[in-house]
Amino acid sequence: MLFIGCHLSVADGYAAMGEKMRAMGGNTFAWFTRNPRGGKTKDVPPEDVAALGRLLQKEGFGTLAAHGSYTMNLCSAKKETRENALDMLRQDLRRMELLPGQFYNFHPGSHTGQGTKTGVALIAQALNRALWPEMKTAVLLETMAGKGSEVGGSFEELKEIIDQTACGDKLGVCFDTCHVWDAGYDIANDLDGVLTRFDKIIGLSRLKAVHFNDSKNPCGARKDRHAKLGEGHIGTEALRRIALHPAFADLPLILETPNDEAGYIKEIAMVKSWF
Ligand code: FE
Ligand code: FE
Ligand code: ZN
Repeated sequence: MLFIGCHLSVADGYAAMGEKMRAMGGNTFAWFTRNPRGGKTKDVPPEDVAALGRLLQKEGFGTLAAHGSYTMNLCSAKKETRENALDMLRQDLRRMELLPGQFYNFHPGSHTGQGTKTGVALIAQALNRALWPEMKTAVLLETMAGKGSEVGGSFEELKEIIDQTACGDKLGVCFDTCHVWDAGYDIANDLDGVLTRFDKIIGLSRLKAVHFNDSKNPCGARKDRHAKLGEGHIGTEALRRIALHPAFADLPLILETPNDEAGYIKEIAMVKSWF
């Protein structure tokens, strides 16, 4: 079954996002848990979240994938930044429990010069302080482009974070097609090879969601610039093979392409036409 959607603004509340996505033709979505520059979040009204929960049920939506703040860096060299990030993570995860069973995706972090090994260890330490055994949310590490000092640009780094986290059963991976491509995994010409590597290193059972994007740059460029579907270097045919591949069946596909609402409606319809 296809679950497709895009990022939506939470400005009008939770149930409003569900209504909006239904009107746009999709059946899953993502939203930023706080404004991208970090800072305070509005309180989450439980009735509004419950109304969204009913809509998801009634309309047969797939699992939603909330997105943590870009500024949340669990492995910064600065202690204050790390502690602030841990606070954000804890608060986000507590809020996610209002709508049990969804995904919370975040960028593992940037080690800011400390090296990947230290970065991985700091991320796992933070997760060990933030996750708890009874939580109902699955926490997804996003595959990264490997830009700058980003951690998570290789499957090995993600696996290392999972291995060092005590509540590792709560962890999964969100596969960002632009990022994976930019990191040097050739999903256009060797999708099965990339998925075999993913399976060997991380395990396909950890694959929980997809950020479905084209890339403005060639494979391995480590740039992280998203393109509209079919307007980048991955291309329509390869993206279609990804969407239809059994490894991605039933996973939420979230568009993060540079589009306005009309553009997203078109892309949602295009992906639906492949099925
Ligand atoms: Fe992301
Ligand atoms: Fe992404
Ligand atoms: Zn990106």
